[in-house]
Amino acid sequence: MTKHKIALIVGAHPDDCVLGAGGVSILLIRAGWRVIFLTMSDGELGGNPTVRISEENECARTLGVHVEYGHLPDGNITSVEAVKVLETKLTEHRPSLIFVHAPADSHKDHRIVSKSLQSAARRYSSILFYEGPSSVDFKPAMRIRLEACVRELKQQALLAHLSQSTRVRTTEWIEATGRYRAWPHFADDCCEAFVPLRMDIGLLLNPVSPVDTLSYVVPHVDQLALGTDMNLLSDLTSLEMLKDCPVSRKDHVLFFLGGLLSLTLAFVFSWSSYLVTA
Ligand SMILES: [Zn+2]
Repeated sequence: MTKHKIALIVGAHPDDCVLGAGGVSILLIRAGWRVIFLTMSDGELGGNPTVRISEENECARTLGVHVEYGHLPDGNITSVEAVKVLETKLTEHRPSLIFVHAPADSHKDHRIVSKSLQSAARRYSSILFYEGPSSVDFKPAMRIRLEACVRELKQQALLAHLSQSTRVRTTEWIEATGRYRAWPHFADDCCEAFVPLRMDIGLLLNPVSPVDTLSYVVPHVDQLALGTDMNLLSDLTSLEMLKDCPVSRKDHVLFFLGGLLSLTLAFVFSWSSYLVTA
């Protein structure tokens, strides 16, 4: 059985995780990772908490991520309680990669969750800050390109948060911000952008399975999803849309070269066996 690497995405309220890191979550799942949303409150200040939790569950199901809750009080999250929840979840999951709100944010809960995570995860090697509509002075150093079908799936997942998308127009925000972050290198696409607190580059060189080796041939974070075998998705019915994603020309070249190498090795092995036995 494949041992999945785990990415933990931490957000103060339902919808924070998908807004800041929904796209990269989809791409990590495609690359064989297990992705967990940790939503620290039930979001009761933004609507009925039962509705908000069911929206977050539906959003997670659409993305193919697992979701867990801290059940801390919306609008009144304290660092003591947040660190306690985070330390418990970190011990339970041991994530290789963690995403959390950027520390500069006009929302108090976001600031406290970001700072608390930095404290709770002080021994973890890879932590990235994501942005949201209330981020302040966010200056990204890393970004990942979201091809059209990934973008559509992220939008579809966000639409599960019906109580918020009409109230704060979050769908417009991810489209506008994604376009802005893509400029100028991926001007026809959208990107999600991040600020690394620290990042273990070795993560890019240590793929989950041999199939995913192709994903890391190009050592660039923008190419994280290259070459993913779509058969990996066969048990993820929520990601059906991704089967229609076009495979890039670079993928075709890599798969062709891989096949050619396998055939050559098989021929050499057969020939040498023949010589030994002859
Ligand atoms: Zn929030």
